Amino acid sequence: MTAKIIDGKQVAADMRAELKEKVAELKAKGVTPGLAVVLVGEDPASKSYVTAKERACEEIGIYSDDNRLSAKTSEDELLALVEKLNKDPKINGILVQLPLPKHIDEDKVLLAIDPAKDVDGFHPVNVGKMVVGQDAYLPCTPHGIIQLLVRSKVQLEGAEVVVVGRSNIVGKPIANMLIQKAHTGNATVTVCHTRTKNIAEHVKRADIIIAAAGRPNTVTADMVKDGAVIIDVGVNRVEDATKKRGYRLVGDVDFEAVKEKASLITPVPGGVGPMTITMLLYNTVQSAEKTLKA
Ligand code: NAP
Repeated sequence: MTAKIIDGKQVAADMRAELKEKVAELKAKGVTPGLAVVLVGEDPASKSYVTAKERACEEIGIYSDDNRLSAKTSEDELLALVEKLNKDPKINGILVQLPLPKHIDEDKVLLAIDPAKDVDGFHPVNVGKMVVGQDAYLPCTPHGIIQLLVRSKVQLEGAEVVVVGRSNIVGKPIANMLIQKAHTGNATVTVCHTRTKNIAEHVKRADIIIAAAGRPNTVTADMVKDGAVIIDVGVNRVEDATKKRGYRLVGDVDFEAVKEKASLITPVPGGVGPMTITMLLYNTVQSAEKTLKA
């Protein structure tokens, strides 16, 4: 069996088109969704993420408020900016790009964001609501994975899912979402990590494998059941002298070999990645819609 590719770029483009229409409807009602993006320092990867997020906002008509601060910005100055954005009626979502410089306490900053504007879904209030199944902003990468699965018509109810990785931004939330009593959940989930005794034994059982370890070749073909669905979240740089930049990006899954056993698989790049920003736009639009209902 050769797997069908789950085209994250296409799913993201479809969702962005849907969101663009929603933004136009909101604007017709006098509401322009606004996202404040806060970047502290000069980290090149963070700069390119922030630029991509701002560009994506513009493309669908969301107002983006760019806040680029020097690496020397103090914690108090950053907290004061967050407080100002919390009160700004033009702003429906606040995104503080991580990581922050070492002298700033990330947890303190994330806690300062009004949960109603926490479109990253990292505030403990939103995390708690997600866990107990209440309406909440869902964290973007795991929510993007759910969209890829649902839109690819993958059966979640009763499925055996194995998640490799237990971070707060991917592993834990995706596991939580998939066990919810909802049409986007109802799966049976195992979470593996570096202390798991025999990862291969767990992964072999899985109907759906979600690899989020940040290590190439964490999932190899011998670990995959015939017909399994593979979601590869990992983004890893491996040296490649044939590339101008000297490296290429690979996921956590041995793609070439695993695609011969799986039924569906996400590529890296072009799988989960494009969904993450899309879900940020989704949460921002959702937040703006709530102001109409308020
Ligand atoms: P992270 O915070 O480093 O967490 C990695 C998790 O994987 C940890 O729980 C770790 O276990 C586990 N792990 C590491 N090596 C393992 C191994 N060999 N076997 C089993 N478990 C292992 O990473 P993250 O932030 O969740 O990100 C994971 C990957 O996804 C990274 O490559 C990241 O770049 C990528 N990512 C992509 C997107 C996107 O939009 N495409 C978004 C977010 C992340 P312990 O807890 O025991 O240490």
